[in-house]
Order: sequence, then structure tokens, then C-alpha cells
Amino acid sequence: SAKASGRNCVRTFDPMLRRPNEDAGKLVPLLAAAIDRRLVSLVYQPIFDLRDGQMKAVEALMRLRMPDGTSVPPSVFIPIAERSGSIIELGRWAIKTACQDILASDRMTTVSVNVSPVQLRTPGFAASVAAILEETGVSGSRLALEVTEGLDMEMQPEVLRCVADLQALGVEIWLDDFGSGYAGLSWLRAIEFNTVKVDRTFLHDCSDERGLTMLQDMVALIRNRGNTILVEGVETEAQMSVLQNLSIDRVQGFHLGRPVTADLLEASA
Ligand code: C2E
Ligand code: MG
Ligand code: MG
Ligand code: MG
Repeated sequence: SAKASGRNCVRTFDPMLRRPNEDAGKLVPLLAAAIDRRLVSLVYQPIFDLRDGQMKAVEALMRLRMPDGTSVPPSVFIPIAERSGSIIELGRWAIKTACQDILASDRMTTVSVNVSPVQLRTPGFAASVAAILEETGVSGSRLALEVTEGLDMEMQPEVLRCVADLQALGVEIWLDDFGSGYAGLSWLRAIEFNTVKVDRTFLHDCSDERGLTMLQDMVALIRNRGNTILVEGVETEAQMSVLQNLSIDRVQGFHLGRPVTADLLEASA
């Protein structure tokens, strides 16, 4: 069918996806041992207040280095870790490491860590975050968790309970990649997100009138709900002007700062 050939077509252009089963097969045991073998690390990308230009937070992004020195992008290894279950341990490691790094840092005030829907659905997740805060001595208000609306992610009562428990710890819950998925509006209704991150496709499409109108509508929708608006994927000065005109709260992107190691972030002060 056209759909099947379309999929094959994509595969031939992406070496990581060419033999998905084989690659996934190799990654599953590696991901299970990645923390012990020190193959995973975190990099941090700054998030700025658009009005005063101050760095307000950093987003932690996971990196995976293969034993041969090559790296595998999160878009490839995160879905595999979600299916194999390794995401639970990797996710806990990421939150703990981010908390340790923030304590050692002079520049990081707040850190946001991406969490998978698999983690949110796992019983005891909020308690494990509470334990990490307790262990590291980091105040909950310095931690934000970024959640993405997933296709298979319904508004289960356990998820809503988990979000409420986390917010009770002072931990902020941010909606990531808003507008890229399927359940965005129902999520927005069900959860009081502290910040909504507008998916970068809305910014990248706003070079024409129709695209700009879409971005404006999106911003109005979020603003009317009272959520802080963060636009990610800022790559040019022209995009910065568009966002300034829309009075966006916060911005993040390669134009403003790439993801770097904690050491480099400190040194760039
Ligand atoms: P995300 O959470 O939406 O993170 C933003 C992604 O966009 C990052 O890619 C970042 O490097 C990239 N980015 C930042 N600024 C720009 C820009 O100006 N232009 C463009 N084109 N891209 C930009 P990365 O690090 O490859 O991560 C991809 C995705 O993998 C993340 O998307 C997130 O969903 C997932 N991910 C990364 N680390 C973790 C983690 O620790 N746990 C979980 N569950 N997911 C993670
Ligand atoms: Mg994110
Ligand atoms: Mg995401
Ligand atoms: Mg995002």
C-alpha cells in the first residue's frame, strides 16, 4: 500500500531506522545497563524570560553514548526504553542527577526534566520524586517535570492523582510539545499546567500569514487559561521579534543557547 511504501521510504533516509528491530534489539540490553556503564548523561539547555532576558530555568536532555563512542538520539532510544521498561530507572536517574547538578550550580535556579507517560502511569512515581527531593535536599519548587501528551495516554484518574501529588510537593508540571499531538486540548482542560511549551512547528510555520495566525490563536488559548507560555525551537532573530510582538513569557532554542554539559553551563556565566 501507499502507506507501507511511504514508511519504507522514510527508512531508507534514516540509517538509525533502517533496521528498527535489529537496532532495538541491540539497544535493549545496553539501556538496561546504561547507568552502571556510565553511557547516559544529561545536557542542559537554557530557558530565558523574554522580557528581561534572564535565564530562568534549564531543561535537562538525556544523551546516550554507545560503547564504540557514537551516540544515539533520544528520539530513537527513549521509545525503546519506554517499551522495554528501562525508562523507569533511566527517568529516576535523570531526576536525581538533575537535582544533584542544580545543587552544585551557581547558575541553575530551576531545572525541568522530561518524563515519559510510562513513568506517570507507574504507581509510586510521585513518591519516588519525593524521595529524591528528600535525599538530595532540593526544594520541590526548583524542579519542573515536562510531560508530553501521548497517543495512548488517556486521562486516567491515576495520572491526575500523580500530577496533583507532585504539585503538592511544589514540583511544577509543564506540558511539552503542545499542539503536536492528539489530546492537547483535553489535557489542557484536565490539568493545571504551570507552563505550556508550544511545539516548535508552530514557530517554524509562522513565516506566512496563515501560520502566524495559528500561532496567535494558540497563544491566546493558553493565555486565556492563565498558563505561562514558553515557545521552544527559537532559531533566528526574526522569530524572536515575532515572539516579542506576541508577548510570549519564555523562550528556548538554538539561537539563544544549545544544550551543554553542566560544567560548560557553569563556565559560560
Ligand atoms: P523535547 O523535550 O521537546 O526537547 C527539545 C528538543 O529540541 C531537544 O532535542 C533539543 O535539543 C531540541 N532543540 C532545542 N532547541 C532547538 C532549536 O532551536 N531547533 C531545533 N530544531 N531543535 C531544538 P533532543 O535532546 O534530541 O530530545 C528530543 C526529545 O527526546 C525531547 O523533546 C524529549 O521528548 C525526549 N527526551 C530527551 N531527554 C529525555 C529524558 O530525559 N526523558 C524522557 N522521557 N524524554 C527525553
Ligand atoms: Mg521537553
Ligand atoms: Mg517532549
Ligand atoms: Mg518539547
